[in-house]
Amino acid sequence: MQQTISLSMPDISEEDIQAVVAVLRTTSLSLGPKLREFEQKFAQYVGTKEAVAVSNGTCALHLAMHALDIHDGDEVITTPFSFIASANCILFERAKPVFVDILPDTLCIDPAQVEAAITPRTKAILAVDVFGYLAEWKELRAIADKHSLLLIEDSCEAMGSEREGKRAGSFGDCAVFAFYPNKQMTTGEGGMFVTDRPDLARMVRSLRNQGRDDEDAFLVHHRLGFNYRISDINCALGLSQLRKLPVMIQKRSQVALWYREGLADVSEHVHGPADQEGVQVSWFVYVVRLGDQHGPKDRDFLIRFLKEQGIGCNMYFPCIHLQPFYREKFGFREGAFPMTEHIAERTLALPFSSRMSAKHVAQVCETLKDGLLHLPS
Ligand SMILES: *Cc1c(COP(=O)(O)O)cnc(C)c1O
Repeated sequence: MQQTISLSMPDISEEDIQAVVAVLRTTSLSLGPKLREFEQKFAQYVGTKEAVAVSNGTCALHLAMHALDIHDGDEVITTPFSFIASANCILFERAKPVFVDILPDTLCIDPAQVEAAITPRTKAILAVDVFGYLAEWKELRAIADKHSLLLIEDSCEAMGSEREGKRAGSFGDCAVFAFYPNKQMTTGEGGMFVTDRPDLARMVRSLRNQGRDDEDAFLVHHRLGFNYRISDINCALGLSQLRKLPVMIQKRSQVALWYREGLADVSEHVHGPADQEGVQVSWFVYVVRLGDQHGPKDRDFLIRFLKEQGIGCNMYFPCIHLQPFYREKFGFREGAFPMTEHIAERTLALPFSSRMSAKHVAQVCETLKDGLLHLPS
């Protein structure tokens, strides 16, 4: 019997549900003890001094920009192969995203091209840990230091990835995470800003809470702030999810392994994600890339084919610079970032979550292989 299999699935246990219900029985639904506990435990996990929880990953990015005083006329070097928010946050503060191309293996920003794109207006580098891979933080740090630039880490897809005992989120001057239901752990909606700099953490705490310096001083506003708070209900879920994160990451690794085995005999046509040397990758998604002999038509056919059989899948990512809004605003056309475009045309995300069984994975693999046999010539 064929089952429908969705692209992603949150992993919510009875314990998670009890943790949420317990908060609902208290009177502290916002700015309460679960918020502080979630931030402390999260900072401990990532290995930073500070963590500030907010309503989602996008506003964590926005607050990072704002707190670092990135503004009109500043340039921020970033990648066009990411989720749209990592470029949009630069526009929120009227600064200019300067895109550079990516490395073919990890799909993260290419440090050599970053250095070539630096101008007197460059203020920061915003690199993304794509799909769970770690960006080349050692090189990026050296470039940032040499040119006195800020280094911002978008770790929204790399919760739990580590290199030499250092976890994603601990490499930049600050970093952000997101807890949307498709991420390695979820709070429903939620995000986190992390840093070792107490001044930045203090500023982000104030900005998320209407510009108040003191969370209890209810009507004193020291600066133009936002309401980017997260409720204690979400934080309780976050705490509960964080506790079982290692188990969920382990299960995701197992699912990735099943995929690798299941697709081994079509490896000429479908390349699974390669390991990253020296990195323990915590997989966010399972994205396969079609061989160079295939183009976007084949990819789009396979997506349709899988969907028709009840299997969730999607292109991942479409290039940011070719999104309608970016074409219109900046005049980008095809050919601007060849590596990003070459890869974006050939990638598709397959169903992936810690709750998938070997049987689910086998069904996806068989359907994908069936699709390959049906490719229009
Ligand atoms: C998920 C994600 C975000 C934003 O997260 P939201 O919580 O959905 O706002 C930002 N950057 C990247 C790379 C992401 O994958």
